[in-house]
Amino acid sequence: MINNDNDRVVFFDIDGTLLDTSNFAETARKAAIGLMVDNGLPLDKDEAYGVLKTIIREKGSNYNKHFNILTQVVLGHEDPMLVALGMVTYHNVKMALLRPFAETIDTLIYLKSRGYRLAVISNGITIKQWEKLVRLNVYSFFDAVITSEEVGKEKPDNLIYDVALRKMRGNPEKSVMIGNKLKEDGLGAVNAGMSAILVNSDVTEEDREFIKKNKLDIKIIENIGDVDTIL
Ligand SMILES: [Mg+2]
Repeated sequence: MINNDNDRVVFFDIDGTLLDTSNFAETARKAAIGLMVDNGLPLDKDEAYGVLKTIIREKGSNYNKHFNILTQVVLGHEDPMLVALGMVTYHNVKMALLRPFAETIDTLIYLKSRGYRLAVISNGITIKQWEKLVRLNVYSFFDAVITSEEVGKEKPDNLIYDVALRKMRGNPEKSVMIGNKLKEDGLGAVNAGMSAILVNSDVTEEDREFIKKNKLDIKIIENIGDVDTIL
């Protein structure tokens, strides 16, 4: 006998949804720059931060040699000690700031108790996204993490949602995407036939009108703890 409930899946975005990432990277980068300048990088801290931001814009945030390039640009050659100092400081500060929203864990427990299976759909690198779930100690709630790295397309592309639904054997009509971005998480999910819930979102009045006018199955809540008012 097939268990009909087994095809109800709640998919989560990670950054800004499960995980409070506000100012997170910026704080870590500034701490890294501070130590690099204190140890001989010949710029003032604001200038150095500006150069780093340009490098990140050009190379993308998932590139892993931003600090190497920073020393090359400023000194004309790579300085391994300064690069190491930057990398370690960045990493340590980021890890120290990594935290779930206050009601994340209660919500995951609640959804499990309601019989939902849980997975992640994320634009990012697979191991890095699992790393966040492991560090937050919530990895055991999730059956799968589907990433843009694995699929080759980013949210809101239909393919990443289709792959995720197939992998989880989810019924789109009974499955939900919870995220913080209207386009990536909300529209991506409804285009794949699912409903969506937006949390911690910066949706505008216009966005709300757009959702209403097009009768999109997207609900907006303040806090991840309010998921229990819908599911
Ligand atoms: Mg997000």
